[in-house]
Amino acid sequence: MKTENSKLDFETRAIHSGFYPADHMGSTIVPIYQTASFAYDTGEELADIFDGKSFGYLYSRIANPTVTAFEQRIAALEEGAGAVAVSSGMAAISAIIFALTEQGDRIIANESLFGGTLLLFNNVLSKYGIDVQYLNLNDADTLNEKISKNTKLIFTETIGNPKLDVPNLLKLGETAKRLGIPLVIDSTLTTPYLLKAKDVGAALVVHSTTKYISGNGSTIGGIVVDTGIYDWSKHASSELKELSSQYGSENAFLYLLRRNIVQNTGSYCSPFNAFLQLLGVETLALRMQKHCSNALQLAEHLAGDSRIVSVNYPGLKSSPYHRTAKSQFGDRFGGLLTLRFGLKEKCFRFIDSLKLAKNLANLGDAKTLVIHPGSTIYHDCNDKEKTAAGVYDDMVRVSVGIESIKDIVDDFDRAIQGATQ
Ligand SMILES: *Cc1c(COP(=O)(O)O)cnc(C)c1O
Repeated sequence: MKTENSKLDFETRAIHSGFYPADHMGSTIVPIYQTASFAYDTGEELADIFDGKSFGYLYSRIANPTVTAFEQRIAALEEGAGAVAVSSGMAAISAIIFALTEQGDRIIANESLFGGTLLLFNNVLSKYGIDVQYLNLNDADTLNEKISKNTKLIFTETIGNPKLDVPNLLKLGETAKRLGIPLVIDSTLTTPYLLKAKDVGAALVVHSTTKYISGNGSTIGGIVVDTGIYDWSKHASSELKELSSQYGSENAFLYLLRRNIVQNTGSYCSPFNAFLQLLGVETLALRMQKHCSNALQLAEHLAGDSRIVSVNYPGLKSSPYHRTAKSQFGDRFGGLLTLRFGLKEKCFRFIDSLKLAKNLANLGDAKTLVIHPGSTIYHDCNDKEKTAAGVYDDMVRVSVGIESIKDIVDDFDRAIQGATQ
């Protein structure tokens, strides 16, 4: 290593961290180690690696050098202890839950959550005796009385998708610390560029790397980063206590995640997907700046349009979360906004009239995307779940891309005309 990564700025780490050409025949880009397994000359060598006596790659369901580079790069952006990359954002969230809970345990979660996470919590975890207690975590004070000895983690999104609520993360982090329970945050909408998870006291941070980290809708992926601030020897899990004494508290969680959960459920990231995500992450800072400025301009433009019932964006002063978002995310508010048209039919007419923006289930793409969440992502959720998640029948979610803002505005103005005349 020629340079100390910790001294480098975010943009530089996004391009260089986790990869040293000299270790890879001088290749200037991370090679795709497209191999299922890794061969060793002697029986003893392979046995020693299995034993943990020496380090080496074994099998691409456990670790792979291309994926390692991606893990180290994202860990460097979070300035965390390490990371494990998996096949999707949902795989990342499930792996954390499986690592930290067992039958009879509880999770406390913010009531505004991404649809897929809600379905995992309500339709899957319930089958395994893991209870999810939903609270409005925008008010961290309600936490204290709700904690029981079975509460194993607190889960929230940094910006709720699609409610666009912003919990006071610093306050949540302090409360979690006082209670000794790990705070897990889903920072998909903020990325490490808008928020350094460890600064708000999060033990673990999840990203659906499908979104802004890939940046162009080319792949599905997820990652879990251990920020390094939580002492795993203090967690209620006896497994983590034992691993802490064996491998050190700073390695215990990631060891458990990789060697027990991800390895045995088979959700590790493929080398090709890691390669695509590494290409994406190089330009994360530039893209996030443009996503945020385009979204703010579009939100401000549409807020003045009387044909729309309301515009929700944390960057607008009308958002009840504006001040929290402003202080937490360094005056940047992400690329997601929602519009309400008063009627579902108008939403569909608006979507049908757009020419540039694509109607699909994804976000964080270079392209501007729209979707009617009520009839798609939240299709399987009941009315109560929808309302808690901020999903309304007359609402369209917009993921603002990095095209010319003039062209985006023109497309929207034309489509609003088509929807409301
Ligand atoms: C998309 C998304 C996920 C799930 O990620 P996948 O990569 O689609 O599995 C989780 N959380 C948030 C906030 C998301 O937007």
